[in-house]
Amino acid sequence: MKFDLVIIGGGPAAIAGGVYAARKRLKTLVIAKEFGGQSIVSSEIFNWIGTPSIRGEDLAKSLRNHLEQYVGEYITIEEGSLVTKVAGEQGDFSITTNTGKVFTSSMVLVASGAARRRLTVPGAVEYDQKGLTYCATCDGPLFSGMDVAVVGGGNAGFESASQLLAYAKSVTLLDNGNMFKAEPITIEKVLARENMKAIHHAETTEILGDKMVTGIKYKDTITGVEQVLPVQGIFVEIGVVPNTQMVEDLVELDSVKHIRVDPRTQQTSKKGVWAAGDCTDGLYAQNNIAVGDAVKALEDIYVHFHK
Ligand SMILES: Cc1cc2nc3c(=O)[nH]c(=O)nc-3n(C[C@H](O)[C@H](O)[C@H](O)COP(=O)(O)OP(=O)(O)OC[C@H]3O[C@@H](n4cnc5c(N)ncnc54)[C@H](O)[C@@H]3O)c2cc1C
Repeated sequence: MKFDLVIIGGGPAAIAGGVYAARKRLKTLVIAKEFGGQSIVSSEIFNWIGTPSIRGEDLAKSLRNHLEQYVGEYITIEEGSLVTKVAGEQGDFSITTNTGKVFTSSMVLVASGAARRRLTVPGAVEYDQKGLTYCATCDGPLFSGMDVAVVGGGNAGFESASQLLAYAKSVTLLDNGNMFKAEPITIEKVLARENMKAIHHAETTEILGDKMVTGIKYKDTITGVEQVLPVQGIFVEIGVVPNTQMVEDLVELDSVKHIRVDPRTQQTSKKGVWAAGDCTDGLYAQNNIAVGDAVKALEDIYVHFHK
């Protein structure tokens, strides 16, 4: 069977795309490795509009439940599969999964998200979500009155530090280079705060803790001397890795492999392929933005379908 639309992903962007596709009566297949998206691990989400507070797991359940309302005539779900390749032309795309299945579709919406680049030092896996986190917007308020560290001296690192300064007793930013990569105006503003400190040439070597994080060990890359900074929270901002391998030969990507889109329509460089959410080159990554992107894409897909 040929679908009108295949949606790749199972996060907020894919679910929003699926719900809108069903309501527009497009025969749609949603292929998701798993449902819920990145914030499924969050203990509490405070900015999902219309819901003052929700656990990541509960948000994932409610998203899935919304999509499942439409399973049948318009929505088919292929869960547990990873799309490995998309090829073809508008009107005739083939979508291959790691389970060896090949689906065909007139149009494709890529909503495969991104993963934060993870710290790989000892303790990083053990203390993930036990004081070590990858999202200051989400988890910052949990560290009120505490000493925290931010790993990474780019815009995301300084942005996180700026947010954390509103709650934390002190923020120390560790950067492994000799120059911060964030914008000078942001650096200046953040470093002017009296409970803020930044350290260059600081390569994180270990996350320390007992039940929860108690400190971070780092090495001065010039002197080789290791030091321990006692902190209760560690926020890692060392970049993201978009999940875009399946379309890297099909659509234009930016230098860090995000899919380039027209932000008015979410169209990619390939006719018949749209993208939404964290896999795109949109500047900001949030659940509500991912949903909005997908809604825009579906409005545009619908127009194209009936042309
Ligand atoms: C720890 C954490 C907490 C966060 N908290 C908040 C918050 O409080 N508020 C907020 O607004 N934002 C938060 N964010 C950011 C938010 O989660 C993302 O912006 C949002 O999830 C992006 O949605 P998405 O649908 O684009 O992609 P994702 O959520 O990344 O979802 C992508 C989906 O695609 C699937 N997938 C990936 N590759 C393939 C493939 N090849 N084939 C099939 N399926 C595939 C994945 O399994 C996943 O289900 C948080 C992020 C993190 C990491």
